[in-house]
Amino acid sequence: MQKKIYLADWILPVSSSPIPFGGFAVEDGRILQVAGADSLLKNFPSFPIKNFGHAVIAPSWVNAHCHLELSAFAGMITGFDDFPDWIRQLLALRGKTNPEALIEPALKAAGELAASGCVLTGDITNGDFLTPDLFSGLLERVVFYEILGFDPARAGTILKEAQARRDAENPMAQIVPHAPYSTSAPLIQKLSGTSSPTSIHLAESKQESEFLLTGSGRFKEFLQERGVWNEPWQPPGQSPVAYLSDLDCLGKDQLLVHGVHVAQQDLTLIKESGASVCVCVRSNAQTGVGKMPVMKYLVNDIPLCVGTDSLASNVDLDMNNEIYYLYNRNNQIDPAELIRMATLNGADALGQSENYGALKAGLKSRFNVFSVNHKIEKEPERFIVSKSWSSLKCF
Ligand SMILES: [Zn+2]
Repeated sequence: MQKKIYLADWILPVSSSPIPFGGFAVEDGRILQVAGADSLLKNFPSFPIKNFGHAVIAPSWVNAHCHLELSAFAGMITGFDDFPDWIRQLLALRGKTNPEALIEPALKAAGELAASGCVLTGDITNGDFLTPDLFSGLLERVVFYEILGFDPARAGTILKEAQARRDAENPMAQIVPHAPYSTSAPLIQKLSGTSSPTSIHLAESKQESEFLLTGSGRFKEFLQERGVWNEPWQPPGQSPVAYLSDLDCLGKDQLLVHGVHVAQQDLTLIKESGASVCVCVRSNAQTGVGKMPVMKYLVNDIPLCVGTDSLASNVDLDMNNEIYYLYNRNNQIDPAELIRMATLNGADALGQSENYGALKAGLKSRFNVFSVNHKIEKEPERFIVSKSWSSLKCF
């Protein structure tokens, strides 16, 4: 029977307002109450106390989108012409790498992610990392088994094969489509009814928008090169978001990843659908796809999450660095909103808000303690996102 009261200068429950000199009581790994220090000491007089002093306690981070499977390719994709070329290089690397060689770099990357205070990640696998316990003890994963296939005639077969593999290796994994330029409309539609939560890379590059609008450009060349071009295919003549909406695949279980190239009509469609959008700012910068209009999403009241994406398109998987980058490049962003994006919104989008993403009664006691050597008088959220702390402990 593990009982404890944790206290600090501030606690940020996220699901409710920050509390100065507050904390929470825990029993057997679940939170009993979040409150000011006086109430906790009165309500749980027999519980041992751990006071972190000059620190802010916040829920552990949730990384809504990464590909641990691609960790072996850290820093290896350079000198590409554009985003389709980046993907071409990634697939070439993958094609010549033995799946066994992916494991050790991924374990190291998962360790780095966990050490930055992350407890849960939405992790994309193309099949090699379906095994549920691959990262046990390091990280919780919501496993997205991502498939592609541009030939509509093969949609049923591809889905059946994927389901058989998923059922054999990890029945909890969600089968999801990769992106509109790599996955046929019938396959996207079949998948949207079978997985919850679901995820798709969407509106990432301008070449993707061009392809859906005109049916030509670098992605057409890319599909031709790979021998999977479907000659009778007609472009929908729409934006990626409008296309997904017309396929009836935009809904509240949907996690849209990237969302860089969107107009106001797209934002309105996303808002109406209830879908969440994952912000991968450092990956966007590295692949050169452009800058996501983060503030426009927030003005439209669309739930945003934070994702590091993979080491193939990011310098590290440190959530604090990801959040700091976002904070520095969006100077109107409310630090409290940013923390919500990287905790509660991510847990919600991954269907895990009963366990993670906030500090409140009933949830798992998983949290980060950001410390400094002086009293934290105000703005505990800004203290965290601006990296004004000197040490981080993860529990
Ligand atoms: Zn991705």
